[in-house]
Amino acid sequence: MTVKVSNLEQFLKENTDYIIYEHSVQTLENSEWIMAKTGLEKVIIVSGDKELLERLEGEVVEEGLMICPISHKNRLVLNSIFEWTKPKAFGNKITTIGLGDRLGMASPGHIAAIRDKKAKPVLAQQSIRELTLMDRTIDDIVDAASYAVFQEGYKEGYGADGDHLKEEKDIKRALDAGMTMLTLDCSDHIENTVSKYSTEELEKDYLKLPEEERLVYEKTYLEKSFSLKSFDISLTKEAIMYNVLLYKKALDFTVYVFDEYVQKASQAIDFELSIDETETVTSPSSHFFVANELAKRGVVVNSLAPRFIGEFQKGVDYMGDIKVFEEDFKKHTEIADKFDYKISVHSGSDKFSVFPIVGELTNGLFHLKTAGTNWLEAMRVMAEYEPELYRRMHRYAFDHFPEAQKYYHITPDLSNIPEVEDVTDGQLPDYLNDRNARQVLHVTYGVLLTATNPDGTSQFKQEFFEKMKKREKEYTESLTQHIGKHLELLNIPNH
Ligand SMILES: [Zn+2]
Repeated sequence: MTVKVSNLEQFLKENTDYIIYEHSVQTLENSEWIMAKTGLEKVIIVSGDKELLERLEGEVVEEGLMICPISHKNRLVLNSIFEWTKPKAFGNKITTIGLGDRLGMASPGHIAAIRDKKAKPVLAQQSIRELTLMDRTIDDIVDAASYAVFQEGYKEGYGADGDHLKEEKDIKRALDAGMTMLTLDCSDHIENTVSKYSTEELEKDYLKLPEEERLVYEKTYLEKSFSLKSFDISLTKEAIMYNVLLYKKALDFTVYVFDEYVQKASQAIDFELSIDETETVTSPSSHFFVANELAKRGVVVNSLAPRFIGEFQKGVDYMGDIKVFEEDFKKHTEIADKFDYKISVHSGSDKFSVFPIVGELTNGLFHLKTAGTNWLEAMRVMAEYEPELYRRMHRYAFDHFPEAQKYYHITPDLSNIPEVEDVTDGQLPDYLNDRNARQVLHVTYGVLLTATNPDGTSQFKQEFFEKMKKREKEYTESLTQHIGKHLELLNIPNH
């Protein structure tokens, strides 16, 4: 049976309150699909035969024509029909950018920024902490990413990252939800106290390990020198003891997760190991030790995130000596090269001063994660277009900053930030250019979006989302520019 594709066109002509997303038009043999917005809600309008429409949920408005909500169930149908709406893995030969979308509204802007670039976006990327804070599920974030690529007609492929996962149950959840990248955060298994040990204490704990195990480590590292491209690594007995005690449990856990989950997953997985959430900077020799142990034990990582020298605080530029960073980063990239994985840079939002170094020293092959900066861009849009709401949110954020700060390592100087009551509407966006104000707004998003009135209703969340939906175009433009600046400075070429 051939379906008249014109019934969709006809419907849109008669129902002018549906605003079409122009890149979303898809035609298959006997069906036609389009994403549209009516009021503040997005829907997919499908013209097709009965069999197809029965698979979807929504309202049949006339024979062969259905208006479908952007629900989870419909997303799965979309995935089965349009392969490119499903997340995928990319392996270690493609540059990837993690573009976490805190609000579920940022992906169209992210896509616009990256679509002409020689890099792939990881559009779904959310840590469990962020999911809990925002009251979202893993399915919600994959839904948002899938619908965003559909809306933008982006067929180049995107990834979905179960970010900073620590527990088996969350790893399982992420894999079940179809995530294609797994970032294992083994910070709970890294023995941070070891960094404060004296030589005697190191020895004492090291000697508790079985002798045969110690002999293997010593045979591997003692009096050996490992050549990297521009430098050599050798570990003293003390360095061996230190690294073994610091990383032993983390390595065991990584091997377990790799064997038990990554290897057995039904989908291809980009496996990333993060050792960055620790108290101490990852030295090149520690990085080498971890990489070498993983390789020895048959673990293939696609990327690895060390903790680099200097500070990568949220939402602001790199803090530290750029020359020192460059020297240190070069060593890390050489280790990653030797073991054939990508260096991953976490907290990569807004680190403009080191982006050219990251791009150059990795030869353009790396993974970089950004997350909260799209929330700050949302606040910028509010500051520009919804000053009244912005003022209330700003006041609340600053009043509640101490409780939010507990969860983040940031050090803003609050003394020079003007009170929101003292500035004009036109000056509000300036807060988003001030590094100290940025940090406060960056970490208070959870506090803001979970704040409730005495009667239990949300204090900002509902109003904020409504206004953001109204400002969808402005938000997309602002992200295109802001993330575009990241990609530009990282020197990612066009296709
Ligand atoms: Zn990290």
